[in-house]
Amino acid sequence: MTTHADCIFCRIARGEIPSRKVYEDDELMAFHDIQPSAPVHFLVIPKVHVENLYDADLQHQQVLGRMMGMIGTLAREQGLDDGFRVVVNTGRVGRQEVYHLHLHVLGGPDPLGSGMPRRQ
Ligand code: 5GP
Ligand code: ZN
Repeated sequence: MTTHADCIFCRIARGEIPSRKVYEDDELMAFHDIQPSAPVHFLVIPKVHVENLYDADLQHQQVLGRMMGMIGTLAREQGLDDGFRVVVNTGRVGRQEVYHLHLHVLGGPDPLGSGMPRRQ
């Protein structure tokens, strides 16, 4: 599996940087965002290093499918029974900050508004 020495999410996946883990198995991981944009905000990542959806291809379809397939279970465990938003920032225009593919799962007791919640 390809991982990058200096990539922050590869380092979290390798356990070199601590995180508040939501879920982990051989090929994916979920952990709470360090700077939450909603009352519940966690990230789901593949352990393999792929920069974003622009770079992903069919060799990633299994892990990408599993990431999507797990979100409902993880959201339920986090109490997001009234719904949530999934956001995948991609590239410069998508304001991606960390270039290791990740799904944001955002939820909480109140409606989230029409767009991606922004930090102050
Ligand atoms: P992006 O803009 O790339 O979609 O979002 C990256 C997200 O990763 C941001 O919401 C940011 O708060 C989060 N993040 C960045 N570094 C860390 C970290 O070291 N640990 C955790 N848990 N989240 C991080
Ligand atoms: Zn990485």
